[in-house]
Amino acid sequence: MMRVLVVGAGVVGLTAAYLLQREGADVVIVEREPGPAAGASAVNGAQLSYSYVAPLADPAVLKKLGALLFDSESPLKFRPRFELAQWSWALGFVGACDRDRSRATTRALLGLSFLSREVTEGILRDERIDCRFTRPGKLVVYPDDAALHHAAEQLEFQRGLGCVQELLSREQCVAKEPALAEYAPRIAGGVWTPGEAAADCGAFCRALAAKLVERGARLVLGDEALEIHAGDELARVRTQNGAFEAERVVLANGSRAAELGRRVGLRLPVYPLKGYAVTLKQRAAPFALRGSVTDVRRRVVFAPLGDEVRVAGFVELAGHDETLPRERIDALLGAARDVLGLDTRGDVQPWFGFRPSTPTSLPILGASPKRTLFLDVGHGMLGWTLAGGSARLVVDALFGRRPPIDASAFAYGAQ
Ligand SMILES: Cc1cc2nc3c(=O)[nH]c(=O)nc-3n(C[C@H](O)[C@H](O)[C@H](O)COP(=O)(O)OP(=O)(O)OC[C@H]3O[C@@H](n4cnc5c(N)ncnc54)[C@H](O)[C@@H]3O)c2cc1C
Repeated sequence: MMRVLVVGAGVVGLTAAYLLQREGADVVIVEREPGPAAGASAVNGAQLSYSYVAPLADPAVLKKLGALLFDSESPLKFRPRFELAQWSWALGFVGACDRDRSRATTRALLGLSFLSREVTEGILRDERIDCRFTRPGKLVVYPDDAALHHAAEQLEFQRGLGCVQELLSREQCVAKEPALAEYAPRIAGGVWTPGEAAADCGAFCRALAAKLVERGARLVLGDEALEIHAGDELARVRTQNGAFEAERVVLANGSRAAELGRRVGLRLPVYPLKGYAVTLKQRAAPFALRGSVTDVRRRVVFAPLGDEVRVAGFVELAGHDETLPRERIDALLGAARDVLGLDTRGDVQPWFGFRPSTPTSLPILGASPKRTLFLDVGHGMLGWTLAGGSARLVVDALFGRRPPIDASAFAYGAQ
């Protein structure tokens, strides 16, 4: 039985651990926090957004660089720091804002997201995990004709790659999602994707962790991996509380991947992109949110989770800044009132998390230059959506099998 140690009990590490265990590996998961799903996977936007995988780096973003730097209301925010990692990430990002590159990335990520749909939804079915999963479709609404035109071009491109999407007028958007009725004058139209799903990522992680432990995996909580010595046959991981030996190690520690990678001699361009979320009560029918909605004006996403709505947004390039500024939460609540007419009074449980992001939005998956160390990091805005396919590719690489899709875009060094 091969012993595999997974570093990180977020959705990415746990999904990889699950597939490893199913293939007969003896799995140990080391997590520095006192419970699973303590990082970005705890709350997030709840969207399984299989067709919206286009990278953040896009030529259109370059035109907004001034707002990024100077507008405090901007949904994308760059707060300069004296930090090499931040500047080299930002330069890599600017370099990736190229149309052909963005399209190649979209193509690669769609392959991974379709594979993820099979894997993650297979796990949900096989394990009967209750995480408020629904497939209500997703509507992305655009503020003006120029943005809608850009979206229509992307839709045409993605149609050739197996995406089923439809361009809607303002009136059709309201017919699809009556909760948008009052906001309709402020949108030009939208793109509707019927196959998209929503589910509570934190609940999925906790259920999966429990299944893993029930079947013999060891979940070591409150212990931080400090160093990895990846030999040719055996890897040794030194932690805060001790040490572990394993035949293989899978690095899945989210936004902290670059730090740990550096200590083993790897360059992992993963930087935290901070975002925020709140969870609110649904409105009563007929104005309850039916499906997921993204408001492109504010870059805020809304997802229905049973009798609640998850509201998430903002992207801040500001390191691991642990503050929770009131104005960000107020802006999310304002969006919930304006866009969906939600009642935002009462307890709203504000949250922030760090998306483990590469400049190109391509995760780093599979083999590393160290024979015993495998990588499952850098999932950025879409880790909940991409965890299943990523786990499949990493586990196949670990067992020396051919991947089910072209995985070259996710190889170490390709980002
Ligand atoms: C506001 C917001 C909204 C989002 N919305 C969506 C969405 O709608 N759909 C979507 O698909 N994705 C979304 N995401 C992205 C998604 O949440 C992340 O990509 C995903 O959770 C990353 O999972 P992970 O397991 O790699 O990282 P994490 O969940 O952060 O897990 C990494 C784990 O590793 C642990 N760790 C770190 N270092 C060590 C160490 N040295 N030793 C031991 N343990 C360690 C951490 O404590 C953590 O538990 C969103 C993210 C944010 C912040």
